[in-house]
Amino acid sequence: MTNALLEVRGLVKHFAVTRGLAGKKLFVRAVDGVDFAIRAGETLGLVGESGCGKTTAGRLVLRLIEPTAGEVLFEGESLGRLDRRALLARRRSFQIIFQDPFASLNPRMTVAEIVGRPMEIHGIARRAERDDRVAELLEAVGLRRDQLGRYPHEFSGGQRQRIGIARAIATRPRLIVADEPTSALDVSVQAQILNLLRDLQARFGLTYLFISHNIGVIRHISDRVAVMYLGKIVELAAKRALFEQPAHPYTQALLAAVPKTDPRRREAGPVLEGDVPSPVSPPPGCRFHTRCPRAMAVCRNEEPAFRPLADGRQVACHLY
Ligand code: SF4
Repeated sequence: MTNALLEVRGLVKHFAVTRGLAGKKLFVRAVDGVDFAIRAGETLGLVGESGCGKTTAGRLVLRLIEPTAGEVLFEGESLGRLDRRALLARRRSFQIIFQDPFASLNPRMTVAEIVGRPMEIHGIARRAERDDRVAELLEAVGLRRDQLGRYPHEFSGGQRQRIGIARAIATRPRLIVADEPTSALDVSVQAQILNLLRDLQARFGLTYLFISHNIGVIRHISDRVAVMYLGKIVELAAKRALFEQPAHPYTQALLAAVPKTDPRRREAGPVLEGDVPSPVSPPPGCRFHTRCPRAMAVCRNEEPAFRPLADGRQVACHLY
């Protein structure tokens, strides 16, 4: 993709695990060959069931964990080729917002220290000016200047996520990986946080990789959507195309499972049955064939390529 801020090529992450009394070594194929790109200023939603590898993919993008294979390019520069010092300098440009705002904030630090720490690490603000900068950030996320000296337990869940967001934007990053940032919040607060993220995107020119299992949240926030199943992306499309005409049977099943508020729009779609197979030994051929209502003989043996269709979307399915 031209003008890609981030490009991911052939990304793989296998985790070694030992099983049984004999201590047999196995590999969890959490991410198993993933390619995508994100343009500056857009939001790419990454959606799939729990255990599909989307959180691991987000951490690989930020180099919080090392890939088994593949490459992550940020503004055309391969992060894998950077030494420790260069990577630290680069880290200023990409940040993460975590799912659980309470667990991700140090309970013994004040808000000023939590939000100010990344600025000190990256030499953006000295101590003396730190509180002023933090106060500006707090106001940007809908909190108040007089809350600088408070501790995380003094805030509600939604406010704590606002602190997490202030910390993420403290270094003026280009890219933010938002990993289920609203999943731990009350439904009434989720929309406020999503709207805040959109406002900040417009104000600061942010680019998001937005990870969620919640198809409704993905629909609200994304420009394009990548659907992940068992360590692979099975469909990647513009939001409208994906939601109006899902191509991959897994995408169709995910959308069919979402309750419709308008019963007239309840279209008949395949219902997703059974559990996601183990990522230790994914099914051969198409990984979705054990649950796919349209599976054919070829699907059991031959892995479908992830290829572009005429309308610009990419799909991995033998039907196309
Ligand atoms: Fe279903 Fe076959 Fe397509 Fe896989 S390749 S999604 S099994 S039709």
